[in-house]
Amino acid sequence: MASMTNWTEEQLDAVTTRVEGLAPRLVALSHAISADPELAYAEHRAAARCADLLEEHAFVVERGAYGQPTAFAARLGGSGPHVVVCAEYDALPGVGHACGHNVIAASAVGAGLALAPFIERAGLRLTILGTPAEEVGGGKVDLLKAGAFEDVDAALMMHPTPFDDYAPKALAIEEWRVVYRGRASHASYAPELGINALDGVVQGYTALAMLRQHLRPLQQVHGVIVDGGAAANVVPERAEASYYLRAVDADDLADLRERARACLEGAATATGTTVEITPEGHVYEPIDAHPGLAAAFTAACAAIGRPYAPDPAGEPISGSTDFGNVSQLVPGLHADMAVDSWPAVNHQHEFAAACVSESGDRTMLDGAKALALTALAVAEDPALLSR
Ligand SMILES: [Zn+2]
Ligand SMILES: [Zn+2]
Repeated sequence: MASMTNWTEEQLDAVTTRVEGLAPRLVALSHAISADPELAYAEHRAAARCADLLEEHAFVVERGAYGQPTAFAARLGGSGPHVVVCAEYDALPGVGHACGHNVIAASAVGAGLALAPFIERAGLRLTILGTPAEEVGGGKVDLLKAGAFEDVDAALMMHPTPFDDYAPKALAIEEWRVVYRGRASHASYAPELGINALDGVVQGYTALAMLRQHLRPLQQVHGVIVDGGAAANVVPERAEASYYLRAVDADDLADLRERARACLEGAATATGTTVEITPEGHVYEPIDAHPGLAAAFTAACAAIGRPYAPDPAGEPISGSTDFGNVSQLVPGLHADMAVDSWPAVNHQHEFAAACVSESGDRTMLDGAKALALTALAVAEDPALLSR
């Protein structure tokens, strides 16, 4: 236990006292973001709220960092290992902040504020990175390509979930926009002259539903129809669906891609339509959880007295994150931290409520402390990154 404690008692006290002292500001930040949900790549007010608070506490803030209008980079510290803490703040259509990204943003800002007074003494370069568009698109992949993770020794973040898992895996994901085209006609007067694009979408959806029974474990496909035509008496000439394809690794994703494509193209053949399949955004890779960072974070949670509450059903692999791509390139920590929501889970209205409850606020503050201590552990013992 003592051997894993890579921070001094004084630092532990300082981090704890700072976060508790700033708790009203951090809770207010978290709740303000939750109450004002903005979708991927449009998180202007959330990014500004985070940037303002960091700037107020001595961080040098670059707004619109790396060419992304809703990204920011808040930097502090001149020497030592470079640790990035990611702040997500995008919401979901229809269910708002039901993934609890308000908790992620406030905990990342809180970690920065906790470390600010003694960062030079600790020998740490810290960047709180505002990372747009996790739910769709893949803002972190844009940031990676623009160089935001070059010269970075470790990347850290937390994510609220129903159960604790400090080293979760995640599935690779690819998003498809699928457009069927046919020919409009009067649905009663001349249906024989029409080609029904909605039939193409429905046939494809049904074929995928049948494929599901025969997929490999953890290959997943799910979709919605986003355009099914305009009027019942006009044969739809255009219809559109959106699908997510997920798998444990690149091989399984390639296999799923081929089989899903056959379903959708077969549906076009069957209905006389044409289909156009367009990958959207970036492919998300699985998380490569760094064992040294996970151990440091686990020790940090123990040090602040946070109980560990894993999923009693085991550690299922599900969901996807653009942090996966980051973790494939630099040592990464994506700590899933429990809020008291069960049986509600991420992307349900009840989970959004849990992420502004007393339990959600506690998890946010615990996350701030544990992320700060993990950054200090890296500064104290950079060798933990090679373990
Ligand atoms: Zn989500
Ligand atoms: Zn999320």
